Amino acid sequence: MSDSVKDMKEFLSKIVTTGSLIPDFKVIATLKYLSIDEVDESVLEALTREGLLVRRITDVAIACSKCGSLSISTKYVCPACSSVSIVKSRLIQHIDCGYVGSEVSFLRSNSGALKCPKCGREVAEERLIVYATFFECLSCHFRTSSPNVIHKCHNCENIFKPADASLRPIYLYELSDKGRELLKQ
Ligand SMILES: [Zn+2]
Ligand SMILES: [Zn+2]
Ligand SMILES: [Zn+2]
Repeated sequence: MSDSVKDMKEFLSKIVTTGSLIPDFKVIATLKYLSIDEVDESVLEALTREGLLVRRITDVAIACSKCGSLSISTKYVCPACSSVSIVKSRLIQHIDCGYVGSEVSFLRSNSGALKCPKCGREVAEERLIVYATFFECLSCHFRTSSPNVIHKCHNCENIFKPADASLRPIYLYELSDKGRELLKQ
């Protein structure tokens, strides 16, 4: 048995023992400040209110409207059936036989090249005309250039639309003149 077959068998045997290989996709977003390790946001708020710090927005993060977490992932969903099983596809034509269709309708050869569903030949990228790029739903085959957007909070599992998102400004803080004066005293 060759080493690569041995490796494959070893890997597959791990899946046999657990029954399946379950993905655990997690987004963990954190907000830190350079140069100070632990920063209490309420202290920053207070110092800004006192006029000792001035702040300006440098970025805006999407936050969960339920728990405030920044650990948010974004998904595209089908506007017709709300499925998240969508792929990016293209409307392409095989120049040699004239077939026009979605890239999803093309087969893939073992080498990964596209195979024309009409003439069965492998299609090199140069033998294609690309008419459009779009998203195609794998459930209902609806095509769109602008899928709906949903967010998922990886802290509390809340799934929400952009209209229900909280937007959290990310500030850069600087000492104000008043703050500098205070340090001189
Ligand atoms: Zn759909
Ligand atoms: Zn063809
Ligand atoms: Zn949440």
